[in-house]
Amino acid sequence: MRIKEYLKPVSLQGAYNLVKNEQAIVIGGGAFIRLGDREIEKALDLSNLNLSFIEDKGDEIEIGAMTTLREIECSKILKTEFDGMLSKAVSEIAGVQIRNMATIGGSVFGRYGFSDVITPLMALDTYVEFYNLGRVPLEDFLESKSKLQDILVKIIIKKDGRRGKFLSVRNTTTDFSILNVAISKKANEFKIAVGARPLGAKLSKEAMEFISKVELTEENAKKAGELAAENLSFGEDLRASEIYRRELCKVLVKRGIMGVI
Ligand SMILES: Cc1cc2nc3c(=O)[nH]c(=O)nc-3n(C[C@H](O)[C@H](O)[C@H](O)COP(=O)(O)OP(=O)(O)OC[C@H]3O[C@@H](n4cnc5c(N)ncnc54)[C@H](O)[C@@H]3O)c2cc1C
Repeated sequence: MRIKEYLKPVSLQGAYNLVKNEQAIVIGGGAFIRLGDREIEKALDLSNLNLSFIEDKGDEIEIGAMTTLREIECSKILKTEFDGMLSKAVSEIAGVQIRNMATIGGSVFGRYGFSDVITPLMALDTYVEFYNLGRVPLEDFLESKSKLQDILVKIIIKKDGRRGKFLSVRNTTTDFSILNVAISKKANEFKIAVGARPLGAKLSKEAMEFISKVELTEENAKKAGELAAENLSFGEDLRASEIYRRELCKVLVKRGIMGVI
């Protein structure tokens, strides 16, 4: 990555103008974008905009886009809320040095198929707030194919008393996940997200509907895992075959459900 002009705006409006009118490229932590061999005319550093925070607002938790994965991992709030699911999920990403750089904003905006950040967020009631677009459900943002010229300001998670469980399988620690699963439960309602398929995280609506209606037994948790594996699509890459991922999905969904109940 080569940068011609490095800009550090002091207002969100100023930053947005540069993205909108001058096609400036936002740099989050820069950990991933720097791996590409691209030439950037104008790079936008957001670190003067006070976007690094984790705040408990009573009914929701707000995480500023420039908050690093390490800050999320170590946050007292996120170690407790949702059974620490988000904090645990990010603690498995690469090493501390990378987690000290990589931001939640870059992790969400990048919509990476391998993401261990998006999967737990999908299993929670999560919204993303952009400077211009405003607040939208995370799922809508992930499904929209359009290339947004906007600034992700914060991630909002509703504090609705959900329990949570994140599970992943890797060939070695610090490697990318072969598959990851996040399950949350609020009263009888479950959310089941499966990511690194190696496609991006998706909710298994069939498995969610099933397990939310039946008696919570090991047998039914197994059935939910089978439903998720049947109804989601999986792919092959250098880490694992499609068949192996499908088998992992059955096991991780069952274990995740047993974990939250
Ligand atoms: C060696 C290595 C190993 C990794 N392993 C894993 C792993 O196992 N699991 C995992 O989940 N992740 C992994 N990651 C990815 C990492 O967790 C981050 O998701 C990634 O680095 C992006 O975050 P960043 O802050 O570095 O974003 P950047 O690289 O700075 O930006 C990423 C993209 O988002 C845009 N962007 C950034 N912030 C904003 C914003 N606020 N508004 C609008 N656009 C924005 C940028 O323009 C760019 O297109 C790994 C990364 C590296 C470098």
